[in-house]
Amino acid sequence: MLNILKTYFGYTDFRPLQKEIITNTINKKDTLVLMPTGGGKSLCYQIPALMMEGTTIVVSPLISLMKDQVEALQANGISARALNSVNTDTENTTVRMECQQGKVKLLYISPERILSEVNYLLRDIKISLFAIDEAHCISQWGHDFRPEYTQLDILRKQFPTIPIIALTATADKITRQDIIKQLRMDNPKVFISSFDRPNISLDVKKGYQQKEKIRIIKRFIEKHGNESGIIYCMSRKTAEKVSELLSNEGFDTAVYHAGLSNIEREKAQDDFINDRVQIVCATVAFGMGIDKSNVRWVIHYNLPKSIESFYQEIGRAGRDGLKSDTILFYSIGDMIQLTKFAEESNQKEINIEKLNRMQQYAETNICRRRILLSYFGETMEHDCGNCDVCRNPPEKFNGTIIIQKALSAIARTNQQIPTSTLIDILRGNYNQEIYENEYYKIKTFGVGKDITYRHWQNYILQMLNMGYIEIAYNEKNHLKITETGNKVLYSKQEAELVVIKEDEFSKYEFKKKQLETSYVNVKNNAYNINEDKDSLFETLRLLRLKLAEQEAIPPYIVMSDSTLQSLCDRKPTCIQDLDNISGLSEYKKNKYGRDFVSAIKLYLNQNI
Ligand code: ADP
Ligand code: ZN
Repeated sequence: MLNILKTYFGYTDFRPLQKEIITNTINKKDTLVLMPTGGGKSLCYQIPALMMEGTTIVVSPLISLMKDQVEALQANGISARALNSVNTDTENTTVRMECQQGKVKLLYISPERILSEVNYLLRDIKISLFAIDEAHCISQWGHDFRPEYTQLDILRKQFPTIPIIALTATADKITRQDIIKQLRMDNPKVFISSFDRPNISLDVKKGYQQKEKIRIIKRFIEKHGNESGIIYCMSRKTAEKVSELLSNEGFDTAVYHAGLSNIEREKAQDDFINDRVQIVCATVAFGMGIDKSNVRWVIHYNLPKSIESFYQEIGRAGRDGLKSDTILFYSIGDMIQLTKFAEESNQKEINIEKLNRMQQYAETNICRRRILLSYFGETMEHDCGNCDVCRNPPEKFNGTIIIQKALSAIARTNQQIPTSTLIDILRGNYNQEIYENEYYKIKTFGVGKDITYRHWQNYILQMLNMGYIEIAYNEKNHLKITETGNKVLYSKQEAELVVIKEDEFSKYEFKKKQLETSYVNVKNNAYNINEDKDSLFETLRLLRLKLAEQEAIPPYIVMSDSTLQSLCDRKPTCIQDLDNISGLSEYKKNKYGRDFVSAIKLYLNQNI
């Protein structure tokens, strides 16, 4: 087992549960695997496929995923093929022939195709194992229900002695039972691995407006150099706007949403996968079927509608296990919009509840990863140390007077104003609305001048979350004072606020940092601490891009970011030294080894 892991995949150790899952499978027992995205599910059937006699049939719902997996296996010298509707007839005929001759170790096939092949191709080949990938598609309860999956019970009926392994990243109990029942699995061993993705950092930023958000994103991307990332937006319009603003700043962006034509969408996706475009600004429509392992960051420009969607979307970062960063932006406007969507949906109660849980996550004062994992039914013993709350624990102060100012302004306008007007009154801004309604005459006009617009927004969100005010969604989003709010207003109760800290990307902090580093001669990038290492990485990244283009496969299939990193750390200068590089199979070593070793030698000669 270890031998195959090393020879064909270039890894020295199994990840948790992989070994147990593989053992169970090669003993011809049925297996159900629940592992998060990037957890390493594929090896759990690919290694058995290589160890067992015959062909492993992999049922996979998306052609793009199939293509990716087949390319990745072939890049390691493993004979894998796909049968699908994208292939030409001739290609499919060749694949069938190779299968019949026993030349194929893994055959990827779509669910509809396998149903039509049960009495044809499948009878003519020696099958070692059935692997059902994305098995949650079988369940009506799951989020990507595929009717064809419900007919897969035919596999057990026709091939009662062939073991089945089903794999998914969706963990809930109903789906789990559904998979076992529908596939007629025989007392399967169920393996559930932790859903934690410790390499993904978590960060929430609240109360920012477009201009400031773009500024923060700009700095964040600059810090990330050429690394690939996704920006998720709530609407098509926002996705386009964000893309436009960033591209005006010189960034390399593409847009992806359901309003574009198939061709436009495919192009955006393809460019991203092949590192021809660095950033995709997208709606939730983007991401299904993307296995790109070197997505280094994910930004949510708006609050997502549930923790499930959020976790799935950030999960697209860092599949290769390397450090990856995420930012979630969150504002009152998002809450108003999402509440409206939820109210109008046909599962109103459920959707409101999901949104509330999402909001609790964004508002929490305890380790964010704990909240996420507890949502998925897992308990964590320690704080993670890799979220903004852990890194920068919130401090509180007595905010009674600030809150009273806001509440008083709301009261004096008879609770007939939305957040923006409230802030204008507090900050004493003269504008048309203020004039027309004579708000400048009220006693609280201008009493909050000393607090910036953004900080007011943040405090008002806090007041909302502590239950001092409510938003009347059906009354033009006017703010209403609650009973507890009245207690604070009439000094019957004190109230605390969380101190707003300037984050590293804000205007002030950034200026400070620039000043600190300006006398150190750091080119282009104020954050590049280890310049030496980074430019070797860049050299190797460009080599990888060139090799990938020559073969017309995505760069991350030639080599993952973590393998490139391993090359940078160890700087091998002869072929033998490549033995210790993680992720470099024998096949890749022979194919690319010389190129990379030469590039490293050249780099060392030039730089030392
Ligand atoms: P999943 O299908 O669960 O989303 P993959 O099977 O695509 O995840 O694996 C994610 C990444 O982890 C891949 O780049 C894979 O090569 C890598 N990986 C899997 N198992 C190991 C291992 N034992 N050691 C190191 N890397 C691994
Ligand atoms: Zn934490």
